[in-house]
Amino acid sequence: QILPYHFEGEVVRGFGRGGKELGCPTANMDDTVIENLPEGLKVGVYYGKATFKGNTYSMAMSVGWNPQYHNEKKTVEVHLIDYAGGDFYGKRLSAVIVGYIRDMRSFASLEELKTAIAKDIEIARRGTTEQGKL
Ligand code: ADP
Ligand code: MG
Repeated sequence: QILPYHFEGEVVRGFGRGGKELGCPTANMDDTVIENLPEGLKVGVYYGKATFKGNTYSMAMSVGWNPQYHNEKKTVEVHLIDYAGGDFYGKRLSAVIVGYIRDMRSFASLEELKTAIAKDIEIARRGTTEQGKL
């Protein structure tokens, strides 16, 4: 039993690849978060809640492989739903992973990827509200 799983760490700079262009910026978490992930937590898309500067948001996040490190290193990336502020690199973020959404996969087109992300966000929103004031 791995979920719910809590982590806390610093937001670092990622590859700058995709996130904002897709309309879905992801706060990349530092190495200690990645190194401490439970072994059985598989790669994929998850949802939960994240707290940052005293405010709590629903979030959708990915656990994936970092192409920058020849896919030998994992990445943990958190998208805060309905957060409309600016960048927060270097800040601390605390989160609870509540549920699993889907496996990681590649998409044939940018449009398909965007559709999948929009669906992930809907599932994350629903999942975190159905479970009450998590
Ligand atoms: P990077 O590759 O550096 O992670 P992204 O395009 O994924 O670049 O953008 C991530 C950054 O955008 C975060 O580190 C954060 O500072 C900022 N940001 C702004 N809005 C959000 C949001 N709703 N969720 C996550 N990060 C956000
Ligand atoms: Mg990112």
